[in-house]
Amino acid sequence: MKYMNLTIDQLHDLLVNKEVTPLDLAKEAIELAKKDTNNAFEYIMEKEALEIASKLTEPEIDNPLWGIPFAIKDNISTKDVPTTASSNILNGYVPLFNATVVEKLLNKHAVPIGKTTLDELAMGGTGTSGHLGMTYNPYDETHTRLAGGSSCGSAAATSAPIVPFALGSDTGDSIRKPASFVGLVGLKPTWSRISRYGLFPFAPSLDTVGFFTRSVKDCAYLLNVTSGRDENDSTSSTKPVDDYVSLINKPVKGLKIATIRQINNAIKDEEVLKAFNNTIEQLKKEGVIVDEIDLDLNMLASIFPTYFVISCSEATSNNANLDGIKFGPYCEGNTYQEVMFNARTKGFSELIKRRFVFGSYALMRENQQELFLRAQKNRRKIVNAINEILSQYDFIYTIAAPSVAPKKDESSDRLNEEYLIADNHLALGNFAGLPSITIPIGLKNKLPFGANVMARAFEEAKLFQISEKIEQITGLKNLNAKEVK
Ligand code: GLN
Repeated sequence: MKYMNLTIDQLHDLLVNKEVTPLDLAKEAIELAKKDTNNAFEYIMEKEALEIASKLTEPEIDNPLWGIPFAIKDNISTKDVPTTASSNILNGYVPLFNATVVEKLLNKHAVPIGKTTLDELAMGGTGTSGHLGMTYNPYDETHTRLAGGSSCGSAAATSAPIVPFALGSDTGDSIRKPASFVGLVGLKPTWSRISRYGLFPFAPSLDTVGFFTRSVKDCAYLLNVTSGRDENDSTSSTKPVDDYVSLINKPVKGLKIATIRQINNAIKDEEVLKAFNNTIEQLKKEGVIVDEIDLDLNMLASIFPTYFVISCSEATSNNANLDGIKFGPYCEGNTYQEVMFNARTKGFSELIKRRFVFGSYALMRENQQELFLRAQKNRRKIVNAINEILSQYDFIYTIAAPSVAPKKDESSDRLNEEYLIADNHLALGNFAGLPSITIPIGLKNKLPFGANVMARAFEEAKLFQISEKIEQITGLKNLNAKEVK
């Protein structure tokens, strides 16, 4: 390992001092990607990366992303580079355009080195359902533990470490949960802050593009350059973009945090709780006000079913174009229905089929009122409750996941309280479109775990400010699996 264990910040210094070139970095990242044993990559962009990197000869002092290698979740479109969303139905699909977020990073002369695995079509939380099979947690050499999903490959590639950062997408917790399992910073910004043009839609009212990094500051750099209005995404926000990096060190004294008693009570892992409480004690010493408040238990237990109905319904509708004609390999058939049936039977895994069947059921005229519309009403109630908390507090602070990364066969009972509450609350950030970040706060038997902070919409600057403080408190900056193991 030479350089890929460094942060963007550190690499930038070396690049501007000409101690290393973008080509050196791209070559190293590609070599590491080729040797990857965690099944993190769908496609390695060797030719593209070397071509881009070799043209970068004059360092740009004010551009921290100049020459920095990165990886891209494979549900984000890349021009002339296969993009499959880890689904057989998209095998061989090559987009004609770049997603806006990719285009913006290319304009900053960051160097893409590969496309990463995901749970098929970003639906799932385990990193086991993509067409290439399970992606492994780099912290576990026995290959039994999950990296978490759906952005499993981006999580594994950044923590291995193969690249200093990677793009992901988050509809329910797909960046923030894996970030906890692999010891990374994982950001889901405010809904509409980053253009979704070129991101394959899963559930557009919840979908956001975001990142995995190994420091809070690196995340701030990335948001600086990727945010903003995009004419190709009419839902992208016109709000001005803050300079997140320059605001990061503002004092935290007087900021107010709410932590939720019912979520804390649902966590059974004492070691995780202890680390979490320790960060709270330290924040209080810095003058941060922290209160444990109550949120209705039934409301918390309704997050998962509400998420499931809304996300499956939106997914069914948005993926109707994966029919073997518009997208996907053509399969013989006498009618449109037959062609579509054959393509989808071959193209989708069981998990996707179940979700689409469920989504179609919830959208049927006779069920819509009882399922889809009821879920939407409940989402509104939940959002009102969260916004009420955030009218009095700057942040909501929680554990990101109940414990360290589980083993593949440690099946969770989806109806027990720990699962319903402790394992699903991150979707609150998607329901309300809030910025939300996971930061590592501890290691248990050399396996990392994280906490999560949510802030008011468009208050990413404050979110980074408090996260930077938590990072200083824990000292867990720039973790990677190789050095911890
Ligand atoms: N784990 C959630 C799901 O199963 C979230 C997925 C996501 O955020 N893309 O759908």
